[in-house]
Order: sequence, then structure tokens, then C-alpha cells
Amino acid sequence: QGYYTRRGGIGESGDFITSPEISQVFGELIGIWYISEWIAMGKPTAFQLVELGPGRGTLTDDILRVFNQLAALLSKCDISIHLVEVSPKLSETQALMLTGGEVQSHTEDKPAYMKGVSKTGIPIFWYRDIQDVPPGYSFYLAHEFFDALPIHKFQRTDKGWREVLVDIDPEAPDQLRFVLSPSSTPATENFIQPEETRDHVEVCPEAGVIIQRLAYRLEEHGGAALVADYGHDGTKTDTFRGFQNHKLHDVLKDPGTADLTADVDFSYLRKMTMGRTATLGPIKQREFLKNMGIDLRLQVLLQNSSDTATHEQLLHSYDMLMNPKKMGDCFNFFALLPHHRLVHPDKKHKPESNPPLPPVAGFAELLLK
Ligand code: SAH
Repeated sequence: QGYYTRRGGIGESGDFITSPEISQVFGELIGIWYISEWIAMGKPTAFQLVELGPGRGTLTDDILRVFNQLAALLSKCDISIHLVEVSPKLSETQALMLTGGEVQSHTEDKPAYMKGVSKTGIPIFWYRDIQDVPPGYSFYLAHEFFDALPIHKFQRTDKGWREVLVDIDPEAPDQLRFVLSPSSTPATENFIQPEETRDHVEVCPEAGVIIQRLAYRLEEHGGAALVADYGHDGTKTDTFRGFQNHKLHDVLKDPGTADLTADVDFSYLRKMTMGRTATLGPIKQREFLKNMGIDLRLQVLLQNSSDTATHEQLLHSYDMLMNPKKMGDCFNFFALLPHHRLVHPDKKHKPESNPPLPPVAGFAELLLK
């Protein structure tokens, strides 16, 4: 029924809330991550920032604020923003947030369906599919994107794997129910890994296809991809659920009115890179943000304000992001990087002549000199 193309309620008044909507610090630290990678890769003269599923546009807005604060460092770099978004409603919200609403829509057959300029003068383009984004050195970002894509569900039975399908309930024709396929289905044949040990598996082939495209682009043109989502490394089973007005909602009830989500299987994403890129993580959100210096940033923000309400808000949002019982443990960060970012390409021949490569921020402990 197209939840995202019709409803897509992110935020306090919607169906679910996300980290960038909770605290500006989240997006700022991600902005720093890209700058850090840009420096580590020798400050290329241009990069595209490509966000998949930008929601209300808050994350990109926070990242652009960091880019603007570091304008002197980035002054010779040609930056453009590319947003991949299927929801007409959310793309309007993004346009308002990022450009103040001044955008041009393309109705003719152009790859971008909309374009505008950020408040800080950076060009922004909107697409429906990652394949429409021009090739080139790019930093990719997917925050709470992969969990929104459709999954297949499978159950191990005495007779082998069966697919969990959706059926009309014969007792109540206006209701849906889950059934097991009576025999194997094409999806069962294609999406279950031979070495699978779990009894129930969720597979998101669309995520696999998108990761393959990202890995191919990074191998060809360079850059980095940061994926953040709730998920696991190939261990969880039945995670498919719905949210409406911040409450759990039966996934089969009133289709199209609730956010449907399934945990991201990072082991599957890693497999789908087919070795074209290196991967880092998944690492827990609280560890990643700590490694990125969230504690220092919080101290600065607290010092900059004497107002009690602001202090409380800052501490409350820090707790939401970092507390293991809230978002700290269940959200994970995962990165795709060209192999040469982690290992010198000519290492085999003359390892001693190469200076050590700088560590990738966020995935190793922050050491302050
Ligand atoms: N990243 C944002 C929003 C997460 S919600 C945040 O963290 O706040 C998921 C986002 O992905 C929404 O913007 C939704 O419209 C978009 N989306 C869902 N399916 C998509 C698809 N197939 N292609 C592109 N965008 C999609």
C-alpha cells in the first residue's frame, strides 16, 4: 500500500523517531566521519554526498552545517548532494529543510526529478533510484534505510525450508494471515544460504542489490559508505514488526498505515559486497559515537548554554542515543571502504616503505594526544 509514498510519519507526531531527529550531535559526528575519510584519502578535489532515504532531511542538514563550519578546509573541494527518495511527501519536507523550499521539478526524462541549492550554496539533486545518481567519487549514507525495504521470510520445517506467505484469512475475508508455502518456492531456492543454521530467516534481496551497486561504485570511483541501522550479524530470526504512533502494530493489520521494519542482517550485506570493498563493523551505536567524540561534543554544548531546559534536553537526547537499553546497543554502524583504504595496494612488494594508513574514525577507540 506504499506507506512511505503516502504516509511516512517520522518524528514526535508520526509513527517512529530516528536518531537525527533526537539530537543534532548525531548528524554532526557523521559529518566529521566523512571529513575524516576525505582527509585520509588525500583530500580529493570533489565529492558527492549521496543519502539513501533521507527522511525529513535533518541528517543531511546537520552534516551540511559541519561542512559549512569547516568551509576553510573544504574551500577547494567541489561538493554536491544527491538524495535518493521515493516519497513525494518526504522529498517536499527535505526540500523545505535543506533549500527553504526553492526547488525546480523535472517532469521530462531527466535522471534527477528535482533540484535545488542548499542554504549554504551546495547543489542538491533528488532521484528515485541509486542507479540514477551520476558516477563519481562519493560518500554514501544509509541511516534507517535498509530496515524499511521489503523482506522474504522463511521457516525451516521437517520437509525443508518453506516460505512464509501472506494470505487472506478464509474465516474473516477482510483480514490477512501468515501461511507456510506448501512446497519450496523460487525465493526459498535462491535466498537461503547453504550454510544457514537458523530455523527462521528474513532475507532482503533489495538490500543485497543496493549493497552490490554501492560496492561496485566504490570499487570503480572511490569514496566510502556508512550504513547505520538496527540489526544483527546473522544471528537474529523473527524481527519483522510494525509501528504506528510509536506503538507496536500488527504488521498485517490495515496495510499501508504503519511503518513496517525488519532488523538489517549485516552478515548478508557483507556477503553481498562480493569482496569488491572492505567492510568494517557492525559496531554498536554507543561505541561508534563514543569513538567519534560524542562525550567531548556534549561537554562543549553544555558549556555553551546556561539554560537548564537546554541542559536537560542535551542530557536526555545523549541518553536516548547512547543508553544500551535505548538506542545504544541495538543500532549498529557498518562501513564499506575501497580495499586500498585499509591495506596499501603495493604492501606485498615493499611493506616497509609505506607510511601507516590512518585508522578509520568511529571503528577504533578515540585517542586524544
Ligand atoms: N534516514 C532518515 C529516514 C529513515 S525512514 C532518518 O534517519 O531519519 C526511511 C526513508 O527511506 C524514508 O525517507 C523513506 O521514504 C525512504 N525509502 C523507503 N523505501 C525506499 C526506497 N525503496 N527507495 C528510496 N527511498 C526509500
